Amino acid sequence: MATNWPQRLTERAEARRAEGLWRSRPTVDPKDPRQDFAGNDYLGLARDPRLAEAQAEAARRRGAGGRASHLVCGHQTIHETLERRLAELTGRPRALLFSTGYMANLGVLQALCDRHTPVFQDRLNHASLIDGARLAGAPSRRFHHRDLADLERLLARAQEGAPALVVSDGVFSMDGDVADVAGLAATARRHDAWLMIDDAHGLGVLGGVGDGCAGRAHGVDEVPVLVGTLGKALGSAGAFVAGDAALIEHLIQFARPYIYTTAQPPGVAAATLAALDILDTEPERRARLHQRIQRFRREAATLGLELDASTTPIQPLRLGDNQRTLRWAARLGEANLRVGAIRAPTVPQGEARLRITLSATHDDDALDALLEGLADCQRQEAA
Ligand SMILES: *Cc1c(COP(=O)(O)O)cnc(C)c1O
Repeated sequence: MATNWPQRLTERAEARRAEGLWRSRPTVDPKDPRQDFAGNDYLGLARDPRLAEAQAEAARRRGAGGRASHLVCGHQTIHETLERRLAELTGRPRALLFSTGYMANLGVLQALCDRHTPVFQDRLNHASLIDGARLAGAPSRRFHHRDLADLERLLARAQEGAPALVVSDGVFSMDGDVADVAGLAATARRHDAWLMIDDAHGLGVLGGVGDGCAGRAHGVDEVPVLVGTLGKALGSAGAFVAGDAALIEHLIQFARPYIYTTAQPPGVAAATLAALDILDTEPERRARLHQRIQRFRREAATLGLELDASTTPIQPLRLGDNQRTLRWAARLGEANLRVGAIRAPTVPQGEARLRITLSATHDDDALDALLEGLADCQRQEAA
């Protein structure tokens, strides 16, 4: 056991390297020639000039910074407009902006829960949901992935008294599969529990109008707490919680990650508004994305690649072993293809995978290159 800090850091670094879990940050510049199959820019909006223009214009008019927290003098008319648009998109009475999805999840869980609140989480929920329950001091019980019977069993065993909260990703970020929102809602309701869905990867991609897997098709009665993030398909940054007025007011009063932070820069809100306009007026982007997903899955299957059963832009290829996963990602990198190499603790030990993400902006040549790169990895391994 280390007795000083430098020694402690060295020990932890060595242990992490030995497990093949050392992480490094690729540095990306605008001229990077690599095709991006790792990001979450599913509709190609992050680099759309209309978002950048809206951002620049709002920054000139309203300032580059947020200046103060929302409760002091940071809450500008543009934030108010954006909250109304997000409420409308998701079919909810109100919405509340947060600076990031991570903070939205911390804020909701900390504001709603305390150490008496039974919290039930899908085993594969995003780290920010797990951390939010920890911040609240509420012990999370984890149910098996997408297993309603297991959830039912845990709910039935929970003590009567404080209302319970059931929490799930909408689209699972490392697996790409979608929660059974209706099933979760019915199960939660039988136990007077609320359901919270974090649809970071479904917003903009799923639902009739890009409203996600828990949007208009499921009202506020089924999913009282809906979280969406704006840095993925919507191509800007930030997040929101949508729900009824009582929930939103509760968050404004009690969510410390909302109260004690500077308001989102107005330019970011303007970029999100521009993205919402594009979501409305260019539904062909969503259609094209789904067509890309189908083509990739069809041709990967003919190569004998065993992809997970995912209908979303997140297409995991499980390779199991950390080193093998790094090898495949490196080989694809040499062919100018960037994919995510996902290892523990992001996914369970032994379930390392390539996380391949598709975007409406990938053309046929890009998909050809990806499929050829994957075939090359297979051949290399067989040799
Ligand atoms: C990315 C992600 C978040 C965090 O959102 P940020 O805005 O990037 O902080 C939360 N939940 C899920 C499921 C995510 O995938």
